[in-house]
Amino acid sequence: MSYIANLAKIASGQRNLDPRMAIYYVTAQCNLNCAYCEDFGARRNPSQAAHQPLERAQHILRVIRSGTDALWLTGGEPLLAPHLLDLLEFAKQELRFRSLTVISNGTLLPAHPEILPLLDRLVISLDSLDPAAWAALNMPKSYAESILEIVRETAKEQERHDFKLILNAVITPENLESEKPDSPLSTFDTLIDFCIQNKTWISFSPQSVNNWPRYELTVSPAYQAFIQKLIQLKRDGAPIMGSLAYLRTLATLEPYDCYPTLIPRILPGGELEYPCRPIAKAGGEQGGREINLLDFSSWQEAWSAARQRYGEAPVACNSCFQQCYAEPSIIQSRPLETWLERADLGTFAPG
Ligand code: SF4
Ligand code: SF4
Repeated sequence: MSYIANLAKIASGQRNLDPRMAIYYVTAQCNLNCAYCEDFGARRNPSQAAHQPLERAQHILRVIRSGTDALWLTGGEPLLAPHLLDLLEFAKQELRFRSLTVISNGTLLPAHPEILPLLDRLVISLDSLDPAAWAALNMPKSYAESILEIVRETAKEQERHDFKLILNAVITPENLESEKPDSPLSTFDTLIDFCIQNKTWISFSPQSVNNWPRYELTVSPAYQAFIQKLIQLKRDGAPIMGSLAYLRTLATLEPYDCYPTLIPRILPGGELEYPCRPIAKAGGEQGGREINLLDFSSWQEAWSAARQRYGEAPVACNSCFQQCYAEPSIIQSRPLETWLERADLGTFAPG
């Protein structure tokens, strides 16, 4: 049980916690161009890495599997990688990952229904039901015409193929605009309602700018009202991902103890983002991307090389409030709250 082992490490002052899961960016190419995306998007495709040949990608997964049994495959848009199905089959049948998640923008799903039986969770990014909001986020008209139908149809497959469909929405000042106390139906109300009707879950994360929550959100009464509403909805049993402890942190945006090694990320070419994506991206002495899983045969070896190269994960760094960064650390470092809430330890929410 890595959760218990990690609690013991925290108690003895260590910050190098064992991973609970890993994220592999199958490709950095994307077919959309979301306005808020800081790393990918069609506008950046010419300078971005494509997918690795199948054998090399399989080696990367093999090394990851020696460190953790839960895997997320994402991008860019992972369905642009022609070997995604092969990789999923390899991960499930040969490597026997206990939990497999794909995060996709959903646009290419109708051409790839064969991935569904292999998944434990499918996450589709969807920030609003309103075509006007999509236009503001830079989505093409064809997206507006098809995405809701794709989500409805995919949701119907959950029972047959035994996977969980989760929508993931980024909270921006733009899609919060109608989130006013006197408005009976806001953008997010209709989105949550859509999820309930279609029996999907939904996760929310604040838009990040340079790894901090976007400033307008931090001073917005509409943001505060919305997070309080989310907390109440979750208490009432709505299908909202994320622990109450995380949602309360979103409301206050108070510092939390970040343990970035809980969810390591690996780039398409096998580069390990140590100790976390934001610090590795910035480069410098605290972290980077020099350690490549293709050069190692086990996670332990690769991780030790990264620690030796860059040192321990930082103390008191807590700028990232997206669910995928903050939630694992909150669940791991607050065992009593987690236990009282019966938070799901194995399947962190996306964001
Ligand atoms: S679909 Fe995802 S990866 Fe592509 S541009 Fe939008 S946010 Fe970025
Ligand atoms: S808050 Fe955590 S994930 Fe974000 S930069 Fe700091 S250590 Fe990395």
